[in-house]
Amino acid sequence: MQTIDLRSDTVTRPGAAMRAAMCDAAVGDDVYGDDPSVNRLQAGLAERLGFEAGLFFPSGTQSNLAALMAHCQRGDEYIVGQEAHTYRYEGGGAAVLGSIQPQPLANQADGSIALADIEAAIKPNDVHYARTRLIALENTIGGKVLPPAYVAEVVALARRRGLALHLDGARLFNAAVKLGVTAADVCAGFDSVSVCLSKGLGAPVGSVLCGQRELIQSATRWRKMLGGGMRQAGVLAAAGIYALEHHVARLADDHRHAAVLAEGLAAIGELRVEPVQTNIVYVHVPLERCAALQAHLAAHGVLVSIAAKTRLVTHLDVSTEQIDIVLRLFADFFASHGG
Ligand SMILES: *Cc1c(COP(=O)(O)O)cnc(C)c1O
Repeated sequence: MQTIDLRSDTVTRPGAAMRAAMCDAAVGDDVYGDDPSVNRLQAGLAERLGFEAGLFFPSGTQSNLAALMAHCQRGDEYIVGQEAHTYRYEGGGAAVLGSIQPQPLANQADGSIALADIEAAIKPNDVHYARTRLIALENTIGGKVLPPAYVAEVVALARRRGLALHLDGARLFNAAVKLGVTAADVCAGFDSVSVCLSKGLGAPVGSVLCGQRELIQSATRWRKMLGGGMRQAGVLAAAGIYALEHHVARLADDHRHAAVLAEGLAAIGELRVEPVQTNIVYVHVPLERCAALQAHLAAHGVLVSIAAKTRLVTHLDVSTEQIDIVLRLFADFFASHGG
């Protein structure tokens, strides 16, 4: 029985061509700056995104944390969405390891943080307050693309208020492909961006932080301290280079699959499906059906974490035929257990 894994786009496995690129990679000790593959990945992506320098990390969590630590000093604060990965899903690293106070604000339905909320959260220069240093956005967030006009307003606000601006662009290329613009367009005006290679791009490991040279120098120090200085990391960087060359345009396939999935699920009366923009589908499942649905799908090789709000993620290793299989399994379940 084949497995269809819709839990996340992190589950992709490197294919034969990517493995061949990893196998052939020229390597060196990257802590000495000697790894030609890492250097090529970093320089290439930085140039592609419009920054001076890039830095390869073992994970997006560490890349975001090093960026926050490079932007902020102890006792500074950063403004961030309640639903943002850096605030909610990174173990509180900014506070725990960075001594950086998060100022979380509500995310609107479209994933944005209201400009008025940001303005109101910026602290005056007064000893009672933490020093507001940075705004962090995420794009895509929950599979939603931030409206470009909104992002431009946040860029202007940050400039006007003298704040730095970081983008968690774990799925930056999904946003670019959806908008039909370059990835550089999506991160224009930001001081730093963190991009995951290990999500929809299909590399096994790695994220790259891009920014101006001074910021990246500082992030390099934090990366070492956080234990992210890797040696012959070129075997991993080679996978990232391959992914950036071959797996960007095809993200449109994942978006199409997600749209087909959403449309098919929406036809089932008991399910409520949220609007889909990229590769993530949220579907609301009646609580009393969750356990049986999970078991039904698992029995047919479909891996997904069914919950009242279920997330289904399409990616490189999910085919059009498999989307059809999943839809049939959902339809069968709700037909035969009908209510
Ligand atoms: C996956 C992800 C990260 C980083 O995750 P790692 O698993 O640490 O690589 C950061 N931000 C967002 C939005 C993500 O989806």
